[in-house]
Amino acid sequence: MALLSETVIDIKHWTNKTFSFKTTRNKTFRFKNGEFAMIGLEVENKPLLRAYSIASPNHEDHLEFLSIKVPNGPLTSKLQHIKLKDEILINSKSTGTLVCDYLLPGRNLFLLSTGTGLAPFMSIIRDPETYEKFNKVILTHTVREVKELAYKDFLENLNNDQLYSEITKGNFLYFNSVTRENFERTGRITTWINENKLTNYLNIENFDPKLDRVMICGSEDMTFDLKTLFEKKGSSEGSTQIQGGFVIEKAFAEK
Ligand SMILES: Cc1cc2nc3c(=O)[nH]c(=O)nc-3n(C[C@H](O)[C@H](O)[C@H](O)COP(=O)(O)OP(=O)(O)OC[C@H]3O[C@@H](n4cnc5c(N)ncnc54)[C@H](O)[C@@H]3O)c2cc1C
Repeated sequence: MALLSETVIDIKHWTNKTFSFKTTRNKTFRFKNGEFAMIGLEVENKPLLRAYSIASPNHEDHLEFLSIKVPNGPLTSKLQHIKLKDEILINSKSTGTLVCDYLLPGRNLFLLSTGTGLAPFMSIIRDPETYEKFNKVILTHTVREVKELAYKDFLENLNNDQLYSEITKGNFLYFNSVTRENFERTGRITTWINENKLTNYLNIENFDPKLDRVMICGSEDMTFDLKTLFEKKGSSEGSTQIQGGFVIEKAFAEK
């Protein structure tokens, strides 16, 4: 395990609450799409690290992260001010449960996210293997306000993207909804799934626990509610040890 130092090569502020950035990538740093690593800054001569999902796919030669800005957060109150050419510390050991290998083989893959829980799925939806393993890849992103829908334009156009259209072959479906504003789609993802509203809206097969697989990444409440929902539907949780119908990772730890 080594602490690598990478250089910031791109920064995008989405809102006053979220931003994303890209860094260089040491050739020795390997990860599975969907995993997270400990990253951070040197503060008072010591590394200050937090868990971050890697948003870029592992075939890219850079790394990308989507970050919250927590007011007074030990790391993000500083991280949100990074500039081009700044150094980011990255622990070379990546891990996590949101990896296709930990799911049973299946028909359609549902990637359900809220807030920065989108990050690991940004990696998975750009992985050619995801489309070899599943017929359709459905990504949902729920946030409070429309402006928090990070990567919305990119996701809406992924099937037409010069590079990724070859990989998705039209089998990528993007769905978003907001909970605190008027929008074309409002409400929590649990409501959309519970009543088959999501699959009807997308005009795809209704969720079948025997065939369809799910990854969940969001707040503690969201992950708990969806775990309960999919268990009720007859799906079982997978882990790094045993394949299952769904896998979960909390997008952050509540204090
Ligand atoms: C497995 C895992 C993966 C993670 N991946 C990401 C990621 O890709 N992007 C990211 O921004 N954060 C991610 N986090 C959270 C991250 O580790 C830090 O908590 C976050 O960067 C804030 O750091 P901080 O030191 O400023 O504040 P902290 O002291 O770490 O957090 C303070 C409080 O802020 C809130 N908070 C922290 N992170 C978030 C968040 N992402 N969204 C909403 N509220 C939050 C929580 O209430 C937390 O108790 C992940 C956490 C885990 C456990």
